[in-house]
This record gives sequence, C-alpha cells and structure tokens, in this order.
Amino acid sequence: MRLPTPGASADGRREHVAMHIMHLDMDAFYASVEQRDDPSLQGKAVIVGGSPESRGVVSACSYEARKFGIHSAMPSYRARQLCPEAIFLPTDFSRYREVSRRIRRILRSAGGLVQPVGLDEAYVQMPADCEDPVALATVLQDRIQRHTRLSCSVGVSFNKPLAKMASEWDKPGGFTVFDLEMVRRVLPDMPLRDLPGVGPQTAQQLARNGITRCRDYCRAPLDQLVRILGKSRAWDVALLCRGLYRDTVSDGERPKSMSQERTFHQDVEDPRDLQEHISLMMGELCERIRQRELAASTLTLKVRLSDFRDVSRSTTLSSPTVDEEVLRNEAFGLLASLFGQVRGVRLMGLTLSNFSYPDVPEQLSLFSQH
Ligand SMILES: [Mg+2]
Repeated sequence: MRLPTPGASADGRREHVAMHIMHLDMDAFYASVEQRDDPSLQGKAVIVGGSPESRGVVSACSYEARKFGIHSAMPSYRARQLCPEAIFLPTDFSRYREVSRRIRRILRSAGGLVQPVGLDEAYVQMPADCEDPVALATVLQDRIQRHTRLSCSVGVSFNKPLAKMASEWDKPGGFTVFDLEMVRRVLPDMPLRDLPGVGPQTAQQLARNGITRCRDYCRAPLDQLVRILGKSRAWDVALLCRGLYRDTVSDGERPKSMSQERTFHQDVEDPRDLQEHISLMMGELCERIRQRELAASTLTLKVRLSDFRDVSRSTTLSSPTVDEEVLRNEAFGLLASLFGQVRGVRLMGLTLSNFSYPDVPEQLSLFSQH
C-alpha cells in the first residue's frame, strides 16, 4: 500500500488544492431554535428530548446545559441529576424542519451541490466556477446566521471528512479551513476516534493494538492493519489518516415515487372507513415528501379486492403540490371512481410520483449585502 503525500505531486512539488468542500453544522440546533423562539430560555440550561420521568434521552442541549456535562443521547433522568434546574422541552420537528429547509435554500443559492445530513448538517460542494470557495463559505455562514438568527459552525477543506473535522474545530460559531498546512501539522496528532467514518468500535480495536492517533496508524505495518480491520477498511482509514479520503457530495437520492400501503385484518367495506384510511396514509405520505422537499404531480390509488384482484386509478395534477388536502381530495375522487367495482377491500395503497423540486434557488451574489 503506497499512498501519495497530501498536496505533493510525483516530483514532490506542492500542488494547489482547491478548498471546495464546505461542511455546515448548526450549533446545538434544536435547543438553539427553542431559545431563539422563547427569550425566557436564553442563557439557561435547555434540554430538548424525552422527559426525565420517562425512559427518554437528550436529543439536544444548550451550551449552558453542556457545562454540567450533559450531552446528547444521555438518558434524560441522568441529565436532570447533573442539572436539576435544567428546562426540559419535547422535540418539535415541524419547527426544526422549517428552519432546516430555509438553511438548505440558502446553501443551494450558491449554485453548488448540497447534501443534507439530518436536519442540522450539510455538505456543500462549491460550484466549479467559484474562484474563492473560502470567501463564499463565509458569505453562506453569515447569511444563515442572519436569516435564521441561529449560530452555526463551518469547516472548509478539499474533502468531506476534513471539512467535517474543521467544522467541529471551533464550535460554536466557528469557521475553520482545514488546509494542507493543517493536514501536516494537526492531522497526525488527531485521535482516530475523532475521524468521521471511524466508529467507536474500530477506534477501540485499534487502541487495543496501541494505535490511537493518525500518526500511529500511518506508521503501523500494513499486514497488522489488515488483520485488525480487513483489507478495504484498512485502506479507507489509511486514506482518512492522511487526509486523502474522497467521497462525493451527492444531492441525495431522487426517488421516482413514494408509496404508503395498508393491509387490513378484515375486508373494509364502508367507503367512509376507506376515506379515513386514505386521510391517515396521505398524512404520512405528505410528511415524507415534505421531508425530502419534493412536490408530486401524479397520484395513484391501488386497491386489492376481496377476490385478490388489484385495481388502480391514477390522476395527474396541473401543477406539482405538497398540499395534503388537495391530494386527499384527489384520492377520494379516485376512490369514488372505483366504487362500482369495490365491495370488500383487503389492501389499499397510495403512490405519489412525477416529482419536482419546489425550492428554486434564490440568486446569491457573493458580495451582496442583504
Ligand atoms: Mg449540530
């Protein structure tokens, strides 16, 4: 296994490496949204997640709560032991999703590729013609902070793992460029468990063999690493430790259709019951397409009759929509058109397809001030 030195060409000269990958991480996202929307929570230990009376866990906590040693995924009762005066709030995903959508719109406005990771993180591949990706990243960070009134940390580098490490570097409100200088100076001392893509288990396996930092890994004999991790994993981690791991930014899977189906224990005969099922299924389906920021044009209703025949009907709307009521009424219409043939129904399915992406990017010029 011979790996090139980062930033050096075959004859050892330094190459110019474009810092074209940005990683954005919102700071204490859910807790910050709650503090922003309720000023009485500002400056207080706020914990979003399950209640301490139940078996809930902490989803997010404010920086004030972190001072007490509270962190996400900790059982809520433990968090309350650590900080009895902490304020516990239930998660309100619809609100967080709304903010998240706004953030993505701002990121997409730069014209690059955006890969969201959950609600509070995203990778951005800056557009190919961008001459100064670092400057563009500062503009995006500033824009997000001003438009959402929430703090975020940004990392910029030439690949995804380094950009992610950079965004962790100086939280909250950080802006870090993980350049070749940092790869040489800082990366060798980084603990392996801090590398994105090295899970706690892998880190433990390596630590048992005395390999805890990138430097150790780079010096360890190849056959030992392969024995511990297997060939392909050993290679991936070798690339990570040298800052050379590449992974494309993908703007997400673009599904062709999304379905929701329900099988009934007993044949359903009453059309009002069928309508009730349609309403529930449509609610779930619309939630899923909203999460992906899609809008659908075509709706298909499938019904399996008590004699196991499948019947389906489709309709295409004049414009794409995520409006639950519009889609539900269309589904009722399709159901009504089947009434002549339908007696007992064993299974019902709804499918939305013909998607479009409703977020038309607002134009962003690099130095515009609003
Ligand atoms: Mg975060």
